[in-house]
Amino acid sequence: MKAQVLYKYDDELTAPSWLSYEDVPDPVISKGSDVIVRIGGAGVCRTDLHVIEGVWRPHMDPNGDALLPLILGHENAGWIEEIGPEVEGLKVGDPVIVHPKISNGTCLACRRGQDMHGEGSFPGLDANGGYAEALVTSARNIVALPKTLSPKDVAPYSDAGLTAYRAAKKATRHLMPGEYCVIIGAGGLGHIAIQVLRAMCAAEIIVVDTSNASLQLAQECGADHLIRADGGEVDAVLSLTKGHGAEAVLDFVGEKGTTAKGIAMTRNAGSYYVVGYGEDVQVPTVDLVITEKNIIGNLVGTWAELTELMELAHRGLVNLETHEFKLEDANDALRALHHGKIKGRAVLVP
Ligand code: ZN
Repeated sequence: MKAQVLYKYDDELTAPSWLSYEDVPDPVISKGSDVIVRIGGAGVCRTDLHVIEGVWRPHMDPNGDALLPLILGHENAGWIEEIGPEVEGLKVGDPVIVHPKISNGTCLACRRGQDMHGEGSFPGLDANGGYAEALVTSARNIVALPKTLSPKDVAPYSDAGLTAYRAAKKATRHLMPGEYCVIIGAGGLGHIAIQVLRAMCAAEIIVVDTSNASLQLAQECGADHLIRADGGEVDAVLSLTKGHGAEAVLDFVGEKGTTAKGIAMTRNAGSYYVVGYGEDVQVPTVDLVITEKNIIGNLVGTWAELTELMELAHRGLVNLETHEFKLEDANDALRALHHGKIKGRAVLVP
């Protein structure tokens, strides 16, 4: 099959191209629970750029490039092509979306439903992913798609959408009518979070972004207030919230100073959710004691949450803005993402 393969990290992201489009062996069923998915679409994610930069190297590849060559792609959807002998309830041709973490299903985390904390691999980061014509995964990872949804339109939900959903859902568990939620960054994840909040709670949604195009998208997604991030965004949020700040702040950027600003926008006893990443969070502990602000990490989401998100998509309550690229043009899609030229999410289609 054809695939896009990473041979070399590029910590400055300056190489003319990062991935090589070539023929590789077809994936094979090696365990009874394995499933091969023919890829209908693979989402292009900032995490792919971070993998290329080597940000994940200390976690995923500590022993000197042992992981390379690697097929990227962790946001996958398609159709069942082949199933292992132990797989029940799935049949060849079914449209599916793939939960990104292959968990073993038997460890304590898996049994508690915390799939992303279970033992196992994360194709696209530490095993071959979906920038290819097919992908091997496990029956545990498969979420069947309703007939209303086509794989290439939903692929980015499997990581970007799921991450946005989980963080926004946590906020909706405590946000009351009359309260405020700030979204920092209305890009690929942020625009999904706005719709999830709209569908699941009545808080007023304030969106902060540096780009007019993203603010426009935020408005279409249901944001109540738009703030251009021009240096005065903390004051703007404080003035909208009568000086108190928002009960929830969801930071989809996590670098270039947004963490300090996000915490400053959070009301006392409110929660600051870290989703985007890159810089360190620095807060004097005494401030946390006095303000009782919560700082909350977020990692993808559970299989059940991916199922919930597909229900919202099926009902038309969440829509994904996507731009299609051919699989062979993966480098173009990554470069466009790197230069901030993608509105919503890019998807590779074989
Ligand atoms: Zn991703």
